[in-house]
Amino acid sequence: MLKVNEIDVYYGAIHALKKLSLEVEQGSIVTLIGANGAGKTTTLKTISGLLRPRSGSIIFKGVDITKVPPEKIVAMGISQVPEGRRVFAGMTVLENLEMGAYLRKDKKGIAKDLEEVFDRFPRLKERRKQLAGTLSGGEQQMLAIGRALMARPSLLLMDEPSMGLAPLLVKEIFEIIKDINNRGTTILLVEQNAHMALSIADKAYVLETGEIVLSGQAGELMKSEEVKKAYLGG
Ligand code: ATP
Repeated sequence: MLKVNEIDVYYGAIHALKKLSLEVEQGSIVTLIGANGAGKTTTLKTISGLLRPRSGSIIFKGVDITKVPPEKIVAMGISQVPEGRRVFAGMTVLENLEMGAYLRKDKKGIAKDLEEVFDRFPRLKERRKQLAGTLSGGEQQMLAIGRALMARPSLLLMDEPSMGLAPLLVKEIFEIIKDINNRGTTILLVEQNAHMALSIADKAYVLETGEIVLSGQAGELMKSEEVKKAYLGG
């Protein structure tokens, strides 16, 4: 479904991604793990068109999207849950969700998806008129996920959805991710919580200073001594 071929991405003189390649198969959960500053967010931003690679290409459903503008990429079916649950703080829960569908014109489909998001996140339904900035951290993360789902993506990019959440909520968020995938959405998940990410993913890539250093079936990587030592706390 998604093929990233040897992309090089720079911030000025900083070479943030070095010939990075990865592949996401339709229907799967793929995770990209790595330490702070490894380039995980940069990878997602490049796929969603917010950053441009200097070389290499990105192919989505057989179409080269390397130079396609971000809003067209969303319309093609890729939507991102940004890091740090960036919801629109001054807008209500409902308005945030409606923003997620702003490129869509199918009013009936939007209404149906809104009901689905409310079914999945009853707490958002109760708080539909509350300002997003006053939600708890976990509720904001759910809203960020719900907003991304309102674009009806076939590929969902998730940037550290577990960051800053209490362990019980982390578990809940990962169950939600698994459920979204079970209902047919392909997922590329960036995480520092390697243990949880590897436990729900099919395939995994390990990123270190802009380069993929390991990749394979998630279950296999979980057993690898290298991964255990560096990312699973020994
Ligand atoms: P984290 O887990 O801490 O979010 P990450 O793996 O997502 O880290 P990135 O945010 O992709 O890492 O950053 C990769 C590298 O690029 C880092 O060295 C970072 O300092 C650098 N970088 C990121 N954004 C910018 C920017 N706007 N300008 C300059 N350098 C940047």
